[in-house]
Amino acid sequence: MHDEGIGAWAARRARRTPHRTAVVHGDGRRMSYAGLYAHATRIAHTLRHHGVRKGDRVGFLGPNRPEFLASLFATGLLGAVFVPFNVRLGPPELAYQLTDCGARVLLRTGRSPGAPAGTGVPVVVVDATGEAAPAPAVEEAVTPDDPCVILYTSGTTGRPKGAVLTHANLTWNAVNVLIDMDLTADETALIAAPLYHAAALGMQALPVLLKGGTCVLMESFDAGAALAAVERHRVTSLFGVPTMFRRIAAHPRWPDADLSSLRTLVCGGAQVPEALVGTYARRGLVLREGYGMTEAAPGVLLTPPGPAGAAPGSAGVPHLFTDVRVVAPGPAGPADEETADAAVGETGELLVRGPNVMAGYWNRPRESAAAFTDGWLHTGDAARADADGGVTVVARIKEMIISGGENIYPAEVEHALLAHPGVADCAVIPVPDTEWGEVGRAVLVAAPGVVLDPDEVLASLSGRLAGYKIPRSAVVAPALPRTGTGKAVRRQLKDRYGAP
Ligand code: ATP
Ligand code: MG
Repeated sequence: MHDEGIGAWAARRARRTPHRTAVVHGDGRRMSYAGLYAHATRIAHTLRHHGVRKGDRVGFLGPNRPEFLASLFATGLLGAVFVPFNVRLGPPELAYQLTDCGARVLLRTGRSPGAPAGTGVPVVVVDATGEAAPAPAVEEAVTPDDPCVILYTSGTTGRPKGAVLTHANLTWNAVNVLIDMDLTADETALIAAPLYHAAALGMQALPVLLKGGTCVLMESFDAGAALAAVERHRVTSLFGVPTMFRRIAAHPRWPDADLSSLRTLVCGGAQVPEALVGTYARRGLVLREGYGMTEAAPGVLLTPPGPAGAAPGSAGVPHLFTDVRVVAPGPAGPADEETADAAVGETGELLVRGPNVMAGYWNRPRESAAAFTDGWLHTGDAARADADGGVTVVARIKEMIISGGENIYPAEVEHALLAHPGVADCAVIPVPDTEWGEVGRAVLVAAPGVVLDPDEVLASLSGRLAGYKIPRSAVVAPALPRTGTGKAVRRQLKDRYGAP
């Protein structure tokens, strides 16, 4: 039987490179490809014993540990659907997602909590840390279009939606990433972002394991520990959201850390401030920008390698097997088959199509239908095509502020605010205004030990931003509410600070 699922990757890899190191755990212990596959087959048998059949959903709750990857391959071998949950979900949110996906069992690692009471989902503790004797092979016909995982979106704009990604979606994304990130068989990737988000899984773990490289797993992100891991394991590649890269560069060990092994740094999940790119450039490191979304497994755009990689602000060019369009008329207009592409430099909605793009959301036929036009996925992001073939992502359409007919992209203003030395974090939100429709308001978080004068911060923007982009008011907040992927939750900010 020819098996094209991701469980079969693990089997093929284990045959080809049994002794190479697949995974290094947080405590430095190593697991070979043969070991990882042995654990996967054992977990697959355990799941069978619990009645899991092809197509059943298997929840997973746990941090970045080998159990995560072994359980993913185990469900893949069975043709079951792996549904990893965010370990930071509160009990009601977890109960919602467990029920939403209809999980038959919930796998968890020894250290993670069990299923919330009342869901009735049996909990199975998996342990894939020691040596495992291989169990008999699991024979299940898996085809590329079978669902492989359900990944919940970050919930930045509403309740998280379960994106159904097939074996083919994940494989094609890995192919795209391998082509454009130049990952090698000697790759040592530091996986510091949580694997239950599409970025760490799709931009790092799966392509690295497909290629035969090594994944160094960090259970939770810590800047000092990340720098230490880079030195200790001679890490060659790292993916992170801007907050992670900012914290690494702000760490006291940053100036002296030995970063000579690093070849590929990719930052994504949100706009990457130019100042951050500059900070890394001063250490001789190229911080590449990636744009993606859970629904695309997740890679869509990536800046080319090398110091002259991309125009400032660009999120890069589409991956080889993925196509994008920016459609006119404007971000707010509906796109249909007749919709014309926007001219170069003109802002419109970014659409994506490709073998990595999901078929739809789990259990949400209405949203799934609305997400596509003629096979093109609506990203909900405003973008413009650049003359060099790259794409600049300007904002989420829903987050754009329209003030007196002018579009204001909060991220642009936030980047300018972050250049102020006293501002540690910020978000720009719309506030209703009788004259302009809406105006921007800056919510500022002060750097440690700094007492911020909001008017002085706003005044520092004049000459740097067009007048209409400068927020009309600013407030100081103790901290910003952020999602697990580090994005400001603007709904909450608007509720708290958005009164006229
Ligand atoms: P939800 O869909 O539940 O509201 P979410 O969109 O934040 O949450 P993800 O799939 O994790 O969930 O994030 C994808 C989104 O992240 C993109 O649609 C885009 O808005 C943003 N994004 C990702 N990379 C970039 C980037 N390089 N520049 C700007 N925005 C980015
Ligand atoms: Mg989204």
